[in-house]
Amino acid sequence: MVSAMATAAEPRPASLPLPGGRPDATVRLRPLLCGRFTSPEPSLHRERGRLAGLRALGIGAAWTEVPVVAFLVEHPGAGRLLVDTGFHPSIVVAPHEAFGRIAGRVIKDVRVEPEQVVSAQLRELGVEPAEIGTVVMTHLHSDHASGIAEYPESTFVVSAAEWAAAGSGGRMQGYWGRQFDHAFDWRTVDFESAEADSYATFGRSLDLFGDGSVRVVSTPGHTAGHLSVILRLRDREALLTGDAAYTRRTIDETALPYRMEDEHRFRRSLREIQLYEREHPGALVIPGHDFAAWRALEPEYA
Ligand SMILES: [Zn+2]
Repeated sequence: MVSAMATAAEPRPASLPLPGGRPDATVRLRPLLCGRFTSPEPSLHRERGRLAGLRALGIGAAWTEVPVVAFLVEHPGAGRLLVDTGFHPSIVVAPHEAFGRIAGRVIKDVRVEPEQVVSAQLRELGVEPAEIGTVVMTHLHSDHASGIAEYPESTFVVSAAEWAAAGSGGRMQGYWGRQFDHAFDWRTVDFESAEADSYATFGRSLDLFGDGSVRVVSTPGHTAGHLSVILRLRDREALLTGDAAYTRRTIDETALPYRMEDEHRFRRSLREIQLYEREHPGALVIPGHDFAAWRALEPEYA
């Protein structure tokens, strides 16, 4: 299979901190539901045994409704950020194009209501997409990267390892170059660099604005360069796990998904998330694809 190497985008290393940091800044967080699909339960939480592979494909297995999510973050100095982008508006009318044919075997019934498109949700809140200064990408899989084209004015932050994996990966790996290969202001962060430091239970973190309000932490395993986001709210922290943990079950029971780019690293990242939650019992921990957890969220956190 010939992979589509990125060509239009020319990412540069981010020089941290990004502008806008304020001492002791706290952020506001608004979770955004961007659509849904169904997946076989054993692909979200793998089973043991001879039939595990078939069941992960949905054969003889229950299918579960899964949310696709993004987040609006408001920082007092840096302005508005997104974490992930949800689906592009074209998916409202062509949901079968959201994922490729291969991923389509385990992702069915994609549904995006027009008002769930992130840019539509922003406008509903009185925010133009051009006002989004920064978009932090947890990773570049299709259900997170589909909406990228809607933010040509924004600075995109992605891990260097994820950019490399997405550029050499293809739809077999969940990447679709045309979603992210735009000549936008792409900035890579490198968790292997000297700037990276440990934070809480996470071995590698970077403080985006230098004020501790928005940290990205390295959580590889789901993909090669996956990152999660820790936000400082007024009286607690929020951890957006992204796909380092699909569900509460992933965290509570170490229920691993069927597919991982690297199981060893997935387990290590998940362990860091589990320990973080244990040491920060008041923290708001939001898994990446869990409808029950999603429905329990408030519209906004300060
Ligand atoms: Zn995902």
